[in-house]
Amino acid sequence: MTASLSKVISGWGRYPVAESILVRPEQMRQVRMPEGDSLICRGQGRSYGDAAISSQGWVMLTERLNRFLAFDSVTGLLTAEAGVTLAEILETFVPRGWFPTVTPGTQYVSLGGAVAADVHGKNHHHGGTFAAHVTELELILADGRRQRCSPGKNEALFWATVGGMGLTGIITEVSFRLMPIETAAIVAQHYAAPDLETTFKWLEDADHDDQYSVAWIDCAGRGRQLGRGIVMGGHHAGRDELPSDWEEPLGFSPRQPKNVPFDLPRFVLNRFTVAAFNEHYYRRQGSKKRPFVTNCHDFFYPLDALNDWNRLYGKRGFLQYQVAIPEPHAYEGMRCLLESLASSRQPSFLAVLKRLGPGNAAPLSFPLAGYTLALDLPMAGEKVLNLLRRLDELVLEYGGRVYLAKDARLSPESLRTMYPRLGEWQQIKRMVDPEGRFQSDLSRRLQLTGAP
Ligand SMILES: Cc1cc2nc3c(=O)[nH]c(=O)nc-3n(C[C@H](O)[C@H](O)[C@H](O)COP(=O)(O)OP(=O)(O)OC[C@H]3O[C@@H](n4cnc5c(N)ncnc54)[C@H](O)[C@@H]3O)c2cc1C
Repeated sequence: MTASLSKVISGWGRYPVAESILVRPEQMRQVRMPEGDSLICRGQGRSYGDAAISSQGWVMLTERLNRFLAFDSVTGLLTAEAGVTLAEILETFVPRGWFPTVTPGTQYVSLGGAVAADVHGKNHHHGGTFAAHVTELELILADGRRQRCSPGKNEALFWATVGGMGLTGIITEVSFRLMPIETAAIVAQHYAAPDLETTFKWLEDADHDDQYSVAWIDCAGRGRQLGRGIVMGGHHAGRDELPSDWEEPLGFSPRQPKNVPFDLPRFVLNRFTVAAFNEHYYRRQGSKKRPFVTNCHDFFYPLDALNDWNRLYGKRGFLQYQVAIPEPHAYEGMRCLLESLASSRQPSFLAVLKRLGPGNAAPLSFPLAGYTLALDLPMAGEKVLNLLRRLDELVLEYGGRVYLAKDARLSPESLRTMYPRLGEWQQIKRMVDPEGRFQSDLSRRLQLTGAP
Protein backbone atom coordinates (compact mmCIF):
# COMPACT_ATOMS: atom_id res chain seq x y z
CA MET A 1 0.00 0.00 0.00
CA THR A 2 1.12 3.64 -0.34
CA ALA A 3 2.49 5.80 2.47
CA SER A 4 0.31 6.38 5.50
CA LEU A 5 -0.56 9.54 7.38
CA SER A 6 -2.05 10.00 10.84
CA LYS A 7 -4.90 12.49 10.85
CA VAL A 8 -7.96 13.45 12.89
CA ILE A 9 -11.06 12.64 10.83
CA SER A 10 -14.81 12.37 11.34
CA GLY A 11 -17.95 11.49 9.48
CA TRP A 12 -20.13 14.14 7.84
CA GLY A 13 -21.69 15.16 11.20
CA ARG A 14 -18.18 16.04 12.55
CA TYR A 15 -18.99 14.04 15.69
CA PRO A 16 -17.23 11.96 16.89
CA VAL A 17 -13.67 12.52 15.69
CA ALA A 18 -10.80 10.01 15.74
CA GLU A 19 -7.13 10.07 15.01
CA SER A 20 -6.80 7.47 12.26
CA ILE A 21 -3.98 6.13 10.12
CA LEU A 22 -4.96 6.94 6.54
CA VAL A 23 -3.70 5.12 3.47
CA ARG A 24 -4.63 6.00 -0.08
CA PRO A 25 -3.81 3.47 -2.79
CA GLU A 26 -3.48 5.07 -6.20
CA GLN A 27 -4.40 1.91 -8.09
CA MET A 28 -6.38 -1.21 -7.35
CA ARG A 29 -3.31 -3.45 -7.57
CA GLN A 30 -1.77 -1.61 -4.58
CA VAL A 31 -4.70 -2.56 -2.35
CA ARG A 32 -3.83 -5.08 0.34
CA MET A 33 -4.54 -5.85 3.96
CA PRO A 34 -2.15 -4.24 6.50
CA GLU A 35 0.10 -6.70 8.36
CA GLY A 36 -1.45 -7.57 11.73
CA ASP A 37 -3.65 -4.46 11.91
CA SER A 38 -7.34 -3.77 11.35
CA LEU A 39 -8.74 -1.84 8.38
CA ILE A 40 -11.87 0.01 7.34
CA CYS A 41 -12.60 1.59 3.94
CA ARG A 42 -13.64 5.19 3.53
CA GLY A 43 -15.31 6.42 0.35
CA GLN A 44 -16.44 10.06 0.44
CA GLY A 45 -16.92 10.17 4.24
CA ARG A 46 -20.61 11.07 3.79
CA SER A 47 -21.80 8.67 6.48
CA TYR A 48 -22.58 10.93 9.42
CA GLY A 49 -21.11 9.13 12.44
CA ASP A 50 -18.23 6.72 13.03
CA ALA A 51 -18.72 4.14 10.24
CA ALA A 52 -15.72 5.26 8.20
CA ILE A 53 -13.29 6.23 10.99
CA SER A 54 -11.10 4.05 13.17
CA SER A 55 -9.08 5.11 16.20
CA GLN A 56 -7.50 1.64 16.44
CA GLY A 57 -6.56 0.69 12.91
CA TRP A 58 -6.09 1.80 9.34
CA VAL A 59 -8.56 3.73 7.22
CA MET A 60 -8.23 3.13 3.48
CA LEU A 61 -9.33 6.01 1.27
CA THR A 62 -10.83 4.73 -1.98
CA GLU A 63 -11.05 8.07 -3.80
CA ARG A 64 -8.31 7.18 -6.32
CA LEU A 65 -9.86 3.79 -7.10
CA ASN A 66 -12.31 5.40 -9.47
CA ARG A 67 -12.10 3.89 -12.93
CA PHE A 68 -15.02 2.92 -15.10
CA LEU A 69 -14.42 -0.66 -16.25
CA ALA A 70 -17.28 -1.60 -18.62
CA PHE A 71 -20.61 -0.28 -19.84
CA ASP A 72 -23.30 -2.02 -21.89
CA SER A 73 -25.23 0.69 -23.73
CA VAL A 74 -28.13 -1.69 -24.43
CA THR A 75 -28.86 -2.90 -20.89
CA GLY A 76 -27.35 0.03 -18.95
CA LEU A 77 -25.09 -2.36 -16.96
CA LEU A 78 -22.11 -0.44 -15.60
CA THR A 79 -19.06 -1.98 -13.90
CA ALA A 80 -16.80 0.41 -12.02
CA GLU A 81 -14.24 0.50 -9.25
CA ALA A 82 -15.79 1.08 -5.86
CA GLY A 83 -14.30 4.56 -5.39
CA VAL A 84 -16.28 5.97 -8.34
CA THR A 85 -18.81 8.52 -7.10
CA LEU A 86 -22.38 9.12 -8.19
CA ALA A 87 -21.24 12.62 -9.22
CA GLU A 88 -18.78 11.05 -11.69
CA ILE A 89 -21.48 8.70 -12.97
CA LEU A 90 -23.96 11.55 -13.46
CA GLU A 91 -21.44 13.67 -15.33
CA THR A 92 -20.55 10.83 -17.70
CA PHE A 93 -23.88 9.08 -18.20
CA VAL A 94 -26.69 11.65 -17.94
CA PRO A 95 -25.69 13.24 -21.30
CA ARG A 96 -25.87 9.70 -22.75
CA GLY A 97 -29.41 9.18 -21.40
CA TRP A 98 -28.75 7.07 -18.26
CA PHE A 99 -29.37 7.74 -14.57
CA PRO A 100 -28.64 5.80 -11.33
CA THR A 101 -31.77 3.80 -10.52
CA VAL A 102 -31.41 4.69 -6.85
CA THR A 103 -29.72 7.82 -5.57
CA PRO A 104 -29.38 9.18 -2.02
CA GLY A 105 -29.69 12.89 -1.22
CA THR A 106 -26.07 13.65 -2.14
CA GLN A 107 -24.14 12.77 -5.28
CA TYR A 108 -20.87 12.73 -3.33
CA VAL A 109 -21.05 9.08 -2.32
CA SER A 110 -18.85 6.28 -3.62
CA LEU A 111 -20.21 3.04 -5.01
CA GLY A 112 -18.54 1.17 -2.15
CA GLY A 113 -20.29 3.43 0.37
CA ALA A 114 -23.62 3.05 -1.45
CA VAL A 115 -23.40 -0.75 -1.24
CA ALA A 116 -21.96 -0.91 2.29
CA ALA A 117 -24.79 1.28 3.66
CA ASP A 118 -27.35 -0.13 1.18
CA VAL A 119 -28.53 3.40 0.49
CA HIS A 120 -32.07 4.29 -0.49
CA GLY A 121 -33.59 7.24 -2.31
CA LYS A 122 -36.90 9.00 -2.79
CA ASN A 123 -38.16 6.01 -4.80
CA HIS A 124 -37.63 3.24 -2.26
CA HIS A 125 -41.36 2.45 -2.22
CA HIS A 126 -41.12 1.75 -5.98
CA GLY A 127 -37.53 0.65 -6.63
CA GLY A 128 -35.99 -0.71 -3.39
CA THR A 129 -32.46 0.12 -2.30
CA PHE A 130 -29.26 0.52 -4.32
CA ALA A 131 -28.58 -3.23 -3.93
CA ALA A 132 -31.74 -4.11 -5.86
CA HIS A 133 -29.91 -2.98 -9.00
CA VAL A 134 -26.50 -4.49 -8.23
CA THR A 135 -25.72 -7.62 -10.25
CA GLU A 136 -22.24 -8.42 -8.91
CA LEU A 137 -19.57 -7.29 -6.46
CA GLU A 138 -15.92 -8.06 -6.14
CA LEU A 139 -14.34 -8.04 -2.67
CA ILE A 140 -10.92 -8.48 -1.14
CA LEU A 141 -11.45 -10.63 1.93
CA ALA A 142 -9.47 -10.57 5.20
CA ASP A 143 -7.14 -13.35 3.98
CA GLY A 144 -6.33 -11.33 0.85
CA ARG A 145 -8.38 -13.46 -1.56
CA ARG A 146 -10.47 -11.77 -4.24
CA GLN A 147 -14.03 -13.06 -4.23
CA ARG A 148 -16.97 -12.30 -6.51
CA CYS A 149 -20.50 -12.48 -5.18
CA SER A 150 -23.98 -11.70 -6.45
CA PRO A 151 -27.61 -12.48 -5.57
CA GLY A 152 -27.10 -15.83 -7.36
CA LYS A 153 -23.48 -16.73 -6.43
CA ASN A 154 -21.96 -16.63 -2.93
CA GLU A 155 -25.20 -14.98 -2.02
CA ALA A 156 -24.70 -15.10 1.77
CA LEU A 157 -21.54 -12.98 1.33
CA PHE A 158 -23.34 -10.68 -1.10
CA TRP A 159 -26.19 -9.92 1.31
CA ALA A 160 -23.85 -9.59 4.31
CA THR A 161 -21.83 -7.00 2.36
CA VAL A 162 -24.96 -5.07 1.36
CA GLY A 163 -25.60 -2.90 4.44
CA GLY A 164 -22.57 -4.56 6.12
CA MET A 165 -20.84 -1.21 6.72
CA GLY A 166 -17.52 -2.28 5.18
CA LEU A 167 -17.00 -5.10 7.68
CA THR A 168 -16.97 -8.11 5.33
CA GLY A 169 -14.14 -6.95 3.07
CA ILE A 170 -12.89 -4.28 0.69
CA ILE A 171 -15.39 -3.80 -2.12
CA THR A 172 -13.26 -3.34 -5.22
CA GLU A 173 -15.78 -3.50 -8.09
CA VAL A 174 -19.51 -2.94 -8.39
CA SER A 175 -21.69 -3.94 -11.38
CA PHE A 176 -25.12 -2.37 -11.40
CA ARG A 177 -27.87 -1.21 -13.73
CA LEU A 178 -28.50 2.41 -14.71
CA MET A 179 -31.94 3.33 -16.02
CA PRO A 180 -32.69 5.10 -19.29
CA ILE A 181 -33.94 8.72 -19.18
CA GLU A 182 -35.18 10.93 -22.00
CA THR A 183 -34.08 14.19 -20.42
CA ALA A 184 -31.97 15.46 -17.54
CA ALA A 185 -34.97 17.35 -16.17
CA ILE A 186 -37.51 16.51 -13.51
CA VAL A 187 -41.20 17.41 -13.45
CA ALA A 188 -41.83 18.24 -9.80
CA GLN A 189 -44.90 19.15 -7.82
CA HIS A 190 -45.29 20.43 -4.25
CA TYR A 191 -48.27 20.08 -1.94
CA ALA A 192 -48.45 21.99 1.36
CA ALA A 193 -49.87 19.60 3.98
CA PRO A 194 -51.24 21.39 7.07
CA ASP A 195 -50.60 18.52 9.51
CA LEU A 196 -49.01 15.10 9.91
CA GLU A 197 -52.17 13.20 9.02
CA THR A 198 -52.41 14.95 5.66
CA THR A 199 -48.67 14.50 5.04
CA PHE A 200 -49.06 10.74 5.54
CA LYS A 201 -52.26 10.60 3.49
CA TRP A 202 -50.62 12.32 0.54
CA LEU A 203 -47.47 10.22 0.69
CA GLU A 204 -49.73 7.17 0.37
CA ASP A 205 -52.23 8.47 -2.11
CA ALA A 206 -51.70 7.59 -5.79
CA ASP A 207 -52.86 11.06 -6.89
CA HIS A 208 -50.02 12.73 -4.97
CA ASP A 209 -47.39 10.01 -5.31
CA ASP A 210 -44.94 9.96 -8.23
CA GLN A 211 -41.81 8.08 -9.31
CA TYR A 212 -40.06 9.92 -6.43
CA SER A 213 -41.68 11.34 -3.33
CA VAL A 214 -40.57 12.76 -0.03
CA ALA A 215 -41.88 15.22 2.56
CA TRP A 216 -40.03 18.04 4.24
CA ILE A 217 -41.45 18.41 7.76
CA ASP A 218 -41.61 21.60 9.77
CA CYS A 219 -40.32 20.38 13.12
CA ALA A 220 -41.18 23.67 14.75
CA GLY A 221 -44.87 22.94 14.08
CA ARG A 222 -46.79 22.15 17.29
CA GLY A 223 -50.38 21.43 18.27
CA ARG A 224 -52.57 21.27 15.18
CA GLN A 225 -49.57 22.11 13.02
CA LEU A 226 -47.51 19.17 14.27
CA GLY A 227 -45.98 17.38 11.28
CA ARG A 228 -47.09 19.93 8.73
CA GLY A 229 -44.92 19.79 5.68
CA ILE A 230 -44.37 19.98 1.97
CA VAL A 231 -44.95 16.75 0.08
CA MET A 232 -42.65 16.83 -2.96
CA GLY A 233 -43.17 14.49 -5.86
CA GLY A 234 -41.36 14.22 -9.16
CA HIS A 235 -40.47 12.08 -12.15
CA HIS A 236 -37.89 12.16 -14.94
CA ALA A 237 -39.37 14.45 -17.59
CA GLY A 238 -40.19 13.01 -20.99
CA ARG A 239 -39.11 15.11 -23.99
CA ASP A 240 -42.72 16.14 -24.55
CA GLU A 241 -42.91 17.58 -21.02
CA LEU A 242 -40.11 20.12 -21.48
CA PRO A 243 -40.95 23.76 -22.18
CA SER A 244 -40.26 24.69 -25.81
CA ASP A 245 -37.34 26.97 -24.84
CA TRP A 246 -35.53 24.24 -22.82
CA GLU A 247 -32.12 23.81 -24.42
CA GLU A 248 -30.45 20.40 -24.67
CA PRO A 249 -32.82 17.84 -23.11
CA LEU A 250 -29.90 15.77 -21.78
CA GLY A 251 -27.69 18.76 -20.96
CA PHE A 252 -25.98 18.27 -17.61
CA SER A 253 -23.10 20.22 -16.19
CA PRO A 254 -21.45 19.41 -12.88
CA ARG A 255 -22.32 21.88 -10.18
CA GLN A 256 -19.80 24.37 -8.83
CA PRO A 257 -20.71 24.39 -5.15
CA LYS A 258 -20.15 27.46 -3.00
CA ASN A 259 -17.93 27.17 0.07
CA VAL A 260 -18.86 27.76 3.70
CA PRO A 261 -15.76 29.75 4.73
CA PHE A 262 -15.93 29.16 8.51
CA ASP A 263 -17.74 27.26 11.26
CA LEU A 264 -20.93 29.10 12.07
CA PRO A 265 -21.18 30.32 15.70
CA ARG A 266 -23.57 28.16 17.73
CA PHE A 267 -26.11 30.88 18.52
CA VAL A 268 -27.05 31.29 14.84
CA LEU A 269 -28.96 28.01 14.74
CA ASN A 270 -31.45 28.03 17.57
CA ARG A 271 -35.12 27.14 17.84
CA PHE A 272 -36.22 30.69 17.00
CA THR A 273 -34.13 31.00 13.82
CA VAL A 274 -35.17 27.48 12.81
CA ALA A 275 -38.86 28.31 13.37
CA ALA A 276 -38.53 31.51 11.31
CA PHE A 277 -36.74 29.70 8.49
CA ASN A 278 -39.32 26.88 8.50
CA GLU A 279 -42.25 29.29 8.34
CA HIS A 280 -40.68 31.01 5.34
CA TYR A 281 -39.83 27.72 3.63
CA TYR A 282 -43.30 26.27 4.20
CA ARG A 283 -44.98 29.32 2.66
CA ARG A 284 -42.55 29.67 -0.23
CA GLN A 285 -42.49 26.02 -1.29
CA GLY A 286 -46.20 25.60 -0.56
CA SER A 287 -47.01 28.48 -2.89
CA LYS A 288 -45.88 26.42 -5.93
CA LYS A 289 -49.31 25.18 -6.83
CA ARG A 290 -48.60 23.77 -10.27
CA PRO A 291 -46.13 21.18 -11.58
CA PHE A 292 -42.81 22.73 -12.63
CA VAL A 293 -39.75 21.55 -14.54
CA THR A 294 -36.47 21.62 -12.66
CA ASN A 295 -32.98 20.10 -12.96
CA CYS A 296 -31.68 16.96 -11.24
CA HIS A 297 -29.31 18.94 -8.99
CA ASP A 298 -32.09 20.97 -7.42
CA PHE A 299 -34.48 18.04 -7.14
CA PHE A 300 -32.16 15.32 -5.81
CA TYR A 301 -29.21 17.16 -4.29
CA PRO A 302 -30.22 20.58 -2.94
CA LEU A 303 -27.69 20.36 -0.10
CA ASP A 304 -24.79 19.75 -2.50
CA ALA A 305 -25.09 23.38 -3.60
CA LEU A 306 -22.99 24.29 -0.54
CA ASN A 307 -19.63 22.58 -0.02
CA ASP A 308 -19.02 21.79 3.65
CA TRP A 309 -22.54 22.73 4.69
CA ASN A 310 -21.82 20.63 7.79
CA ARG A 311 -19.83 23.63 9.07
CA LEU A 312 -23.11 25.49 9.53
CA TYR A 313 -23.60 23.52 12.75
CA GLY A 314 -20.46 24.91 14.33
CA LYS A 315 -17.33 23.22 15.66
CA ARG A 316 -19.08 20.63 17.81
CA GLY A 317 -20.85 19.23 14.79
CA PHE A 318 -24.29 17.65 14.62
CA LEU A 319 -26.10 14.34 14.72
CA GLN A 320 -28.40 13.02 12.10
CA TYR A 321 -31.02 10.76 13.65
CA GLN A 322 -32.69 8.64 11.00
CA VAL A 323 -35.17 5.97 11.99
CA ALA A 324 -37.61 3.66 10.27
CA ILE A 325 -40.92 2.60 11.82
CA PRO A 326 -42.84 -0.29 10.28
CA GLU A 327 -46.48 -0.33 9.34
CA PRO A 328 -49.15 -0.55 10.62
CA HIS A 329 -48.05 1.81 13.43
CA ALA A 330 -45.75 4.13 11.49
CA TYR A 331 -48.11 7.10 11.78
CA GLU A 332 -48.53 6.83 15.57
CA GLY A 333 -44.80 6.20 15.99
CA MET A 334 -43.79 9.25 13.97
CA ARG A 335 -46.38 11.35 15.77
CA CYS A 336 -44.89 10.38 19.16
CA LEU A 337 -41.36 11.12 17.92
CA LEU A 338 -42.33 14.55 16.64
CA GLU A 339 -44.22 15.34 19.85
CA SER A 340 -41.20 14.37 21.97
CA LEU A 341 -38.93 16.45 19.77
CA ALA A 342 -41.27 19.46 19.95
CA SER A 343 -41.58 19.25 23.73
CA SER A 344 -37.80 18.95 24.14
CA ARG A 345 -37.49 22.40 22.53
CA GLN A 346 -34.32 21.34 20.76
CA PRO A 347 -34.18 22.58 17.20
CA SER A 348 -33.97 20.18 14.29
CA PHE A 349 -32.89 22.20 11.29
CA LEU A 350 -33.92 19.61 8.76
CA ALA A 351 -36.58 16.90 8.94
CA VAL A 352 -37.43 14.59 6.10
CA LEU A 353 -40.13 11.91 5.99
CA LYS A 354 -40.17 9.19 3.34
CA ARG A 355 -42.33 6.20 2.63
CA LEU A 356 -40.41 2.93 2.44
CA GLY A 357 -41.24 -0.24 0.54
CA PRO A 358 -40.42 -3.76 1.79
CA GLY A 359 -36.93 -4.58 3.07
CA ASN A 360 -34.55 -6.95 1.28
CA ALA A 361 -32.53 -10.08 2.09
CA ALA A 362 -29.60 -8.20 3.69
CA PRO A 363 -29.60 -8.80 7.48
CA LEU A 364 -28.32 -5.28 8.28
CA SER A 365 -30.11 -3.30 5.58
CA PHE A 366 -32.03 -0.41 7.12
CA PRO A 367 -35.27 0.04 5.14
CA LEU A 368 -38.43 -1.84 6.13
CA ALA A 369 -42.02 -1.49 4.94
CA GLY A 370 -43.18 1.69 6.66
CA TYR A 371 -41.80 5.20 7.01
CA THR A 372 -38.46 6.81 7.72
CA LEU A 373 -37.80 10.14 9.43
CA ALA A 374 -34.43 11.91 9.43
CA LEU A 375 -33.64 14.78 11.82
CA ASP A 376 -30.52 16.95 12.03
CA LEU A 377 -29.72 18.09 15.56
CA PRO A 378 -26.77 20.25 16.63
CA MET A 379 -24.44 18.34 18.94
CA ALA A 380 -25.18 19.86 22.32
CA GLY A 381 -23.66 17.24 24.61
CA GLU A 382 -25.74 15.26 27.10
CA LYS A 383 -28.86 17.30 26.42
CA VAL A 384 -29.19 16.01 22.86
CA LEU A 385 -27.84 12.55 23.68
CA ASN A 386 -30.51 12.15 26.37
CA LEU A 387 -33.21 13.25 23.96
CA LEU A 388 -32.05 10.68 21.41
CA ARG A 389 -32.03 7.92 24.06
CA ARG A 390 -35.68 8.78 24.77
CA LEU A 391 -36.44 8.70 21.04
CA ASP A 392 -34.69 5.28 20.79
CA GLU A 393 -37.11 3.95 23.39
CA LEU A 394 -40.06 5.11 21.30
CA VAL A 395 -38.53 3.62 18.17
CA LEU A 396 -38.06 0.29 19.98
CA GLU A 397 -41.63 0.41 21.27
CA TYR A 398 -42.89 0.74 17.69
CA GLY A 399 -40.60 -2.03 16.35
CA GLY A 400 -38.38 0.39 14.43
CA ARG A 401 -34.66 0.90 13.92
CA VAL A 402 -31.91 3.50 13.58
CA TYR A 403 -29.93 3.82 10.31
CA LEU A 404 -26.29 2.82 10.92
CA ALA A 405 -24.95 5.07 8.14
CA LYS A 406 -26.19 8.06 10.15
CA ASP A 407 -25.50 6.80 13.64
CA ALA A 408 -22.89 8.05 16.13
CA ARG A 409 -24.34 7.10 19.52
CA LEU A 410 -26.72 4.11 19.57
CA SER A 411 -26.14 1.43 22.25
CA PRO A 412 -25.28 -2.21 21.44
CA GLU A 413 -28.38 -3.39 23.37
CA SER A 414 -30.73 -1.24 21.27
CA LEU A 415 -28.97 -2.33 18.09
CA ARG A 416 -29.60 -6.02 18.87
CA THR A 417 -33.34 -5.46 19.21
CA MET A 418 -33.55 -3.16 16.22
CA TYR A 419 -31.72 -5.59 13.92
CA PRO A 420 -33.07 -9.04 14.86
CA ARG A 421 -31.06 -10.72 12.07
CA LEU A 422 -27.73 -9.51 13.51
CA GLY A 423 -26.79 -13.09 14.57
CA GLU A 424 -27.20 -14.29 10.98
CA TRP A 425 -24.88 -11.51 9.76
CA GLN A 426 -22.34 -12.26 12.52
CA GLN A 427 -22.11 -15.90 11.40
CA ILE A 428 -21.08 -14.83 7.90
CA LYS A 429 -18.70 -12.22 9.28
CA ARG A 430 -17.00 -14.93 11.37
CA MET A 431 -16.68 -17.13 8.30
CA VAL A 432 -15.07 -14.51 6.06
CA ASP A 433 -13.17 -12.57 8.73
CA PRO A 434 -12.51 -14.92 11.68
CA GLU A 435 -9.88 -12.62 13.23
CA GLY A 436 -12.02 -9.50 12.94
CA ARG A 437 -9.59 -7.66 10.64
CA PHE A 438 -12.28 -5.30 9.34
CA GLN A 439 -13.23 -2.92 12.15
CA SER A 440 -14.39 0.66 12.57
CA ASP A 441 -15.24 2.83 15.54
CA LEU A 442 -18.90 2.07 14.75
CA SER A 443 -18.35 -1.69 14.78
CA ARG A 444 -16.54 -1.54 18.13
CA ARG A 445 -19.03 0.86 19.74
CA LEU A 446 -22.01 -1.24 18.67
CA GLN A 447 -20.22 -4.56 19.29
CA LEU A 448 -21.32 -5.50 15.79
CA THR A 449 -19.02 -8.49 15.77
CA GLY A 450 -19.98 -9.56 19.31
CA ALA A 451 -19.08 -8.38 22.83
CA PRO A 452 -15.35 -7.52 23.22
C1 LIG B 1 -26.36 15.27 2.38
C2 LIG B 1 -26.48 13.77 2.54
C3 LIG B 1 -27.63 13.15 2.10
C4 LIG B 1 -27.77 11.77 2.24
N1 LIG B 1 -28.93 11.19 1.80
C5 LIG B 1 -29.08 9.86 1.94
C6 LIG B 1 -30.26 9.23 1.46
O1 LIG B 1 -31.16 9.87 0.91
N2 LIG B 1 -30.36 7.89 1.59
C7 LIG B 1 -29.36 7.14 2.16
O2 LIG B 1 -29.51 5.91 2.23
N3 LIG B 1 -28.23 7.71 2.63
C8 LIG B 1 -28.08 9.05 2.52
N4 LIG B 1 -26.93 9.64 2.97
C9 LIG B 1 -25.88 8.79 3.58
C10 LIG B 1 -24.88 8.28 2.53
O3 LIG B 1 -25.53 7.94 1.34
C11 LIG B 1 -24.21 7.01 3.06
O4 LIG B 1 -23.63 7.25 4.31
C12 LIG B 1 -23.11 6.47 2.14
O5 LIG B 1 -22.62 5.28 2.68
C13 LIG B 1 -21.96 7.46 1.98
O6 LIG B 1 -21.05 6.97 1.00
P1 LIG B 1 -19.50 7.30 1.17
O7 LIG B 1 -18.80 6.90 -0.08
O8 LIG B 1 -19.33 8.68 1.63
O9 LIG B 1 -19.13 6.25 2.32
P2 LIG B 1 -18.32 6.53 3.68
O10 LIG B 1 -19.10 7.46 4.52
O11 LIG B 1 -16.93 6.85 3.39
O12 LIG B 1 -18.44 5.05 4.30
C14 LIG B 1 -19.71 4.53 4.66
C15 LIG B 1 -19.57 3.03 4.90
O13 LIG B 1 -19.21 2.39 3.67
C16 LIG B 1 -18.05 1.62 3.84
N5 LIG B 1 -17.30 1.63 2.57
C17 LIG B 1 -17.04 2.68 1.77
N6 LIG B 1 -16.32 2.27 0.69
C18 LIG B 1 -16.15 0.94 0.83
C19 LIG B 1 -15.49 -0.06 0.05
N7 LIG B 1 -14.87 0.24 -1.10
N8 LIG B 1 -15.50 -1.32 0.52
C20 LIG B 1 -16.11 -1.65 1.67
N9 LIG B 1 -16.78 -0.74 2.43
C21 LIG B 1 -16.78 0.53 2.02
C22 LIG B 1 -17.29 2.31 4.97
O14 LIG B 1 -16.40 1.41 5.60
C23 LIG B 1 -18.43 2.72 5.88
O15 LIG B 1 -18.82 1.67 6.71
C24 LIG B 1 -26.73 11.01 2.85
C25 LIG B 1 -25.57 11.64 3.29
C26 LIG B 1 -25.43 13.02 3.13
C27 LIG B 1 -24.18 13.70 3.62
